[in-house]
Amino acid sequence: MSANASLHQRRGAAVPRGVGNAYAVYAKSANNSEITDEEGKKYIDFAGGIAVVNTGHCHPKVIAAVKAQVEQLTHACFQVTPYEPYIRLAERINDMVPGKSPKKTIFLTTGAEAVENAVKIARAYTKRSGIIAFSGAFHGRTMMGMALTGKYAPYKIGFGPFPSDVYHVPFPDPALKDDGAAALKHLDYIFKADIGPDNVAAIIIEPVQGEGGFNIVPFSFMKALRELCTKHGIVFIVDEIQSGFARTGKMFAVEHSGIEPDLVTMAKSMAGGFPISAVCGKAEIMDAPAPGGLGGTYAGSPIGCAAANAVIDVMEEENLVERANVIGKRMLERLNDMKRKNSFGNRIGDIRGLGAMVACDLVKSDGTPDADLTKAVVTKAAENGLVLLSCGVNANVLRFLMPLTIPEKQLEAGFDILEKTIGQA
Ligand code: PLP
Repeated sequence: MSANASLHQRRGAAVPRGVGNAYAVYAKSANNSEITDEEGKKYIDFAGGIAVVNTGHCHPKVIAAVKAQVEQLTHACFQVTPYEPYIRLAERINDMVPGKSPKKTIFLTTGAEAVENAVKIARAYTKRSGIIAFSGAFHGRTMMGMALTGKYAPYKIGFGPFPSDVYHVPFPDPALKDDGAAALKHLDYIFKADIGPDNVAAIIIEPVQGEGGFNIVPFSFMKALRELCTKHGIVFIVDEIQSGFARTGKMFAVEHSGIEPDLVTMAKSMAGGFPISAVCGKAEIMDAPAPGGLGGTYAGSPIGCAAANAVIDVMEEENLVERANVIGKRMLERLNDMKRKNSFGNRIGDIRGLGAMVACDLVKSDGTPDADLTKAVVTKAAENGLVLLSCGVNANVLRFLMPLTIPEKQLEAGFDILEKTIGQA
């Protein structure tokens, strides 16, 4: 029996569903934008471990920093015996997050934990409970993360009840070229009928929805939300867990709209695969919780901090913010070219992107979402040597999250495989 097949027989691991990839690629090793499976077959990685390896798999500088840290200090618990890499990383993140206000940062371990902590901080600061999120949003799999998540299936099925005082507003509809007017109207209803604005602790939004389908928030709507939050003393939380760390052609996607958020959540690509997350925000808000109210045994581990410090070095040295724009432009060219050639009977629908956060819809010939085709393309692409990811409220979006360090040749080869695969699926 082949190595991949024999792993497929082993039933001990509770495998999360919903990834949509029936052809399992059992990753044995990975280097930059290439994954090697248990049988030695190589795959071009257009998924990046779901937006985690913007600096590429096993970047030598990140690995060297982690090795050096492991030999020096693996764990101390920042609350007990603090350590320098945590403080250095906090200072660097404070400088990176946009806005003139003095900032502070706390480190956690996962993205969902960062979201949980941002909500806790907002509630402690405002002494209010209400939280407003958006349809199609994804904020993680903890109880509050699920409560904030807009999409019910598959994330929330069977897990309720969820924390209360969470309200959802329709996300500006890209198909209608909606600039957020409907959402602002809906917010007005909520403020009148459900919860007054002076009971709302926070509004949370992804500047580009990740799991929801790579939907870009109109910059004017980000500005409108900023004004609304300022007017009512509501904490404006921007969830950059998927969009952050150079992916959109800025270090953080919120920079495109030119506003200063109150709190920013980040994780994923901040440490190139080593688990660490953060909440960075205005110092006076970050200081609101009582000492001991935030934290965790492994929160901001020395290894995670060392990896994140190295990732930031690599992003600066290799100009990955600019590289994201170059890659993104090329991705849009390739996708538009595929669409123009019309070789697949109009199966490629809307194509969109911000920097290298690029996606396309797959549709039926009548233009409606085609989740079956999307699943078939992801599966067939893996057989053809390309790891792809889908997403979207209708599960019909192909999203591209390859390392920003991907060589040109591999980027082109990946799109060649995609083109061939859509023709076959
Ligand atoms: N928020 C956003 C925008 C995400 O994309 C994700 C994960 O995909 C999360 C939160 C949750 O992060 P984690 O899976 O690390 O808990």
